Amino acid sequence: MSEKNILELIFIKAIEYMPDSPMRFKLSGSVGLRGRNLPNDIRTVQKALNNHLLYLSPLQRLAEDGTFGSNIHRSKTLEAIKLYQKEVVGLKHPDGLISVNGPTHRELNGLVGLPKKIHTFTFHDSDYQLTRPVTTLAECLATIPRFVRTELHVRLMNVITYMHYHGIAMGVLPGIGAGYRTFQQQYREVSTNGPGESVHNYGLAADLGVLEWGDRNGKAYFSDYRLEQMGKMPEYAGLPAKIWHIRNRVEPIFLYPHPPGKKDPAHLQLFSTKYSGKRLLIRTLEEVVKGTGVQYREGSHGYYECYFPDIDKWVMIGTARMMWSGTIKNANAAQTAMVQDHMRKSEQVARWIKLYHRF
Ligand SMILES: [Zn+2]
Repeated sequence: MSEKNILELIFIKAIEYMPDSPMRFKLSGSVGLRGRNLPNDIRTVQKALNNHLLYLSPLQRLAEDGTFGSNIHRSKTLEAIKLYQKEVVGLKHPDGLISVNGPTHRELNGLVGLPKKIHTFTFHDSDYQLTRPVTTLAECLATIPRFVRTELHVRLMNVITYMHYHGIAMGVLPGIGAGYRTFQQQYREVSTNGPGESVHNYGLAADLGVLEWGDRNGKAYFSDYRLEQMGKMPEYAGLPAKIWHIRNRVEPIFLYPHPPGKKDPAHLQLFSTKYSGKRLLIRTLEEVVKGTGVQYREGSHGYYECYFPDIDKWVMIGTARMMWSGTIKNANAAQTAMVQDHMRKSEQVARWIKLYHRF
C-alpha cells in the first residue's frame, strides 16, 4: 500500500469520525426501546450516531436503514444508543430511549460530540478553566496541511483529537510553512536556517497551536496561537505552560517539542530536536549525489564544503542559501550549476527521505 493510499484511508477514517457541523436534527417521535420508532426518525438517529463513532469504540458504523430489525434487543442501533448514553451523556443506567428534545437528543445535537461532562476543562491543582471550544474537531483536523508526512499526520490527528476532547481547539497555525515548507519558502524566511536546514522542509514538523481559548465566562479568544497574549494576562499567568505540557504529553515518544523556554512552543517535530539542520541537509545531499563521486560536509561558520571529483579537492562553497541561489564561492560556472541542481533535487528527496531512523 502506498503512502498516498494510507493517507486516503486515514482521511476516510477521520471523516467517519467527523460530525457534520452544525448538525441539528429534529425527531417526530421517540426512538429506541419502547419508542415510537418511525423509520425516518430511526434513520436520522443512525446517521447522528455514525457521526459520533469516535466515542463509540469499538462499535462499527451502523447501517442507516431506518429499522431496529426483527428483534430490537439484538439491534446494533440500540446497543449504540445505550453506549452513547453511558459514555457521552453520562447516564448511569442507559434506558436505550431517545425522547424528543430529551438529554440524548440534545447531546447528539450539541457541539461535535464533545461530552457535556467535559463542558469546561479545569486544570488540576488550579482554578484555571477553559470553556468548550466553538471550533469543531473537523475544523481543527482540517488545519493539517497536505504534504506533511503520513507518520506526522497521524500523530497530529491524535493530539488534536485528544486536546479537543478535553476542550482545547488546536490546529496547525495558518500561514505559509507551519507544516510543510518548500526550500524556496525557507530561502525567503527570515530565519537562521537556510533551505534544507529546517525540519519543516522535510514534512516532519508542524507548528501546532491553540486556535481558540476562552475564559470561564464563556468568552472565546482567537488569534493567539502561541498563547503569548494569554501568558501576559495576570489572571492566566502560568496557564500557557500547562496547556503546552498537556499537549506534549499525548505523543511523548514521537513528537518532540522545542525545549521548555524556547520561544516557539507551538513547534513539534518527529525526531529529537538535538540534530542540527545542517546534518539534515548533508544527509539529503548524500542521497542525491550517490554514485557521482561528489561529497558534501559541514565546514566552519555555517558554510558547507564540497568535494569536486574533477579537481580532486574539498572546497569551502558557502551557506545553504548561497547553494540554493547559485552564488557559491570558489567554484566555476559548471560546479555552481551542479551544486544548485543538487539543492533542487534535495528539495524533492526531502519529502520522503527517512531521517528519523538514521539518527
Ligand atoms: Zn516550526
